[in-house]
Amino acid sequence: MTRDPHWSDWRWQMRHRVHDEATLREYVTPTDDELAAIEATRDIFRWNITPYYASLMDPDDPDCPVRRQVVPRMSEMAPDIVGVVDPLDEVGHSPVKNLIHNYRDRVAFCVTAECAIYCRYCLRKRMVGDADFMMRKDELGEALDYLAAHPEIRDVLLTGGDPLVFNEANLSWLLERLRAIPHIEVIRLGSRLPVTLPYRITDDLCNLLRAHHPVWLNTHFNHPKELTPEAAAACAKLAEAGVPVGNQTVLMRGINDDLATMKALVEGLVAMRVWPYYLYQAQLIGGTAHFRTSIETGMALMRGLRGHTSGFAVPSYVLDTPFGKVPLTMDYVRGRAGDHVVLESTRGDLWAEPNPLGDETPPLILPEVDLPPGIATLPTGAPTFVPVAEGYTETA
Ligand SMILES: *Cc1c(COP(=O)(O)O)cnc(C)c1O
Ligand code: SF4
Repeated sequence: MTRDPHWSDWRWQMRHRVHDEATLREYVTPTDDELAAIEATRDIFRWNITPYYASLMDPDDPDCPVRRQVVPRMSEMAPDIVGVVDPLDEVGHSPVKNLIHNYRDRVAFCVTAECAIYCRYCLRKRMVGDADFMMRKDELGEALDYLAAHPEIRDVLLTGGDPLVFNEANLSWLLERLRAIPHIEVIRLGSRLPVTLPYRITDDLCNLLRAHHPVWLNTHFNHPKELTPEAAAACAKLAEAGVPVGNQTVLMRGINDDLATMKALVEGLVAMRVWPYYLYQAQLIGGTAHFRTSIETGMALMRGLRGHTSGFAVPSYVLDTPFGKVPLTMDYVRGRAGDHVVLESTRGDLWAEPNPLGDETPPLILPEVDLPPGIATLPTGAPTFVPVAEGYTETA
């Protein structure tokens, strides 16, 4: 396919998004299931793909990890264990429209409901692409008034939808108003555009962000196929503008729930100077059951990363709940054995570390465990490696 001369103009990309069968056929050979799903989901969840992101799809493989994220499938219509559309009770946590105040010191501010593409697993499926959740200027003003009236809020996450679908004039208006509120220390952007429309990261945008520092940005890569030279260039521009770039990945069955893919993703991200920040357990959202994978699978992936790649390539695996994000950690600390703490190494060995407790009552109570054989008789301060397999039992 020859590319339009305006291909790398982000506005051209937005105007030429794929949202009908004929245009889709320029990129892939759609399956009957995909064609049926495009019809069936029409009134349920919007469908749009930027030409750039569409060009990353495998034309012949419907299970392509890029294609599955953006082309509807009939599984979206399957009976689900949930009809839940707002699993985090974000509406209940919004004192004013689209402003989610769940943590004391920081908020998520959904400044728009629009995105460049509509990810089929989206957490905010209930609102993205929906005209009712668009923000008029007076509604943005009400949210800004709330922020100004709440001095405990020091960190504002602009999200959506995608805040970078705003043009520079609107973004500039918003950033200036936020910067006029003295207690707001950090402005964060949550944007998928470095992944789905990297041409959006223009010099003008970078200059605008630079003028409102400290500005952080979290983007959303899910698969190594998305780590293209164009995406790398967008992330490099942000880094050069002094914007720390992080990444949030959603763990999805058949897309990134195997160790080789996840390792290639996080290592590719750090090579682009993007810090893997969160790995999310997929939420309970109607029509997304086919994307969900078990929490144990996610924990096993984390075991495969921690200690086996650069420490800063290892994200935190979390589940978001109405009570905030909960780390899904499987602990390396087995428990306390007298004056030692028994640990399991990232390679599977046991280690007993002398614990300088004295007469203190520790702030956390560890379960009591037996010292593994071979360590019990050692003098304090001379721990030794013992293979896990050698008859280790927990008593607590
Ligand atoms: C995730 C989230 C934040 C930011 O949380 P961090 O753990 O600080 O990244 C803030 N508000 C809401 C409602 C969120 O969901
Ligand atoms: S870019 Fe983010 S908010 Fe928009 S559809 Fe995708 S996951 Fe949802």
